[in-house]
Amino acid sequence: MLRIAIQKSGRLSEDSLKLIKECGISFINSSLKLKTESTNFPLEILYLRDDDIPGYVADGVADIGIVGENVLVEEGMQHLAVEQLGFSKCRLSLAVPKGDNYQDISDLNGKNIATSYPKLLQAYLSEKGVEAHIHTISGSVEIAPSIGLADAICDIVSSGSTLISNGLKEVERVFKSQAVLIANKELSEEKRQILEKLLFRIHAVQRAQRAKYILLNAPNEKIEEISALLPGAKSPSILPLAEEGWSSLHSVVNEDDFWEIIEKLKDAGAQGILVVPIEKMII
Ligand code: ATP
Ligand code: ZN
Repeated sequence: MLRIAIQKSGRLSEDSLKLIKECGISFINSSLKLKTESTNFPLEILYLRDDDIPGYVADGVADIGIVGENVLVEEGMQHLAVEQLGFSKCRLSLAVPKGDNYQDISDLNGKNIATSYPKLLQAYLSEKGVEAHIHTISGSVEIAPSIGLADAICDIVSSGSTLISNGLKEVERVFKSQAVLIANKELSEEKRQILEKLLFRIHAVQRAQRAKYILLNAPNEKIEEISALLPGAKSPSILPLAEEGWSSLHSVVNEDDFWEIIEKLKDAGAQGILVVPIEKMII
């Protein structure tokens, strides 16, 4: 049995649970419970505050966990990281009141900065040769300037709308973060094997998320040209259509290349292009 710690409620909870479910791991999800056990995989889920997750994994209370890199690095626990998970992407940024005539980072010398991430901020300021007073507060950081607690803040930003609604503007990006899978350094052989199985499934889910299955019709004389545009898992599958002289091509494309390829395919004479999601992808 492997024990995973995930955030009980917050920005990471939903996506963490979604990933576990997409890995085909079923469990009874009750928001009231602190612990659940999967019914079809040797996994137990512990629901915790995100800040506590690195410590619990380091101590072996949980074997693995999902946490934001911002929290992991702030707690000085980077060595626990196994791999980035690609969700809960955000950044830790410095922001000042909208009306400030901010020029560059040296403007923060001698200023008061409120944050929940004093270590990350201090490391950044030191690297830039700036000396400021850091006020550590645990929440509602964005209101600190308007209540006179600080001249600037250093907080998590994703779209930036919270900053704007608090009359602030983002001026420096301190740290880029996303959810990361962490693991205790001394897992037993049995637990390590379960983790390997879980990682195998996570990779299949991640590959599938980036990939799209594409089907299109093409005149036979264009097959070669169109196939060259489709990188695919290997080479495209080609099936004859009932209509003489036409074929159906099936392949896999990466979402990042998607729009560029679609345009080229159309130019090459492809018709009836269908792009469908892939649920799992094992290669
Ligand atoms: P807890 O009660 O568990 O301590 P919290 O209030 O500290 O929760 P959340 O706001 O739920 O934390 O954020 C958890 C993590 O999600 C953050 O540490 C960060 O990695 C990420 N995160 C925070 N805000 C955003 C956002 N706006 N967009 C994407 N990810 C975010
Ligand atoms: Zn927290």
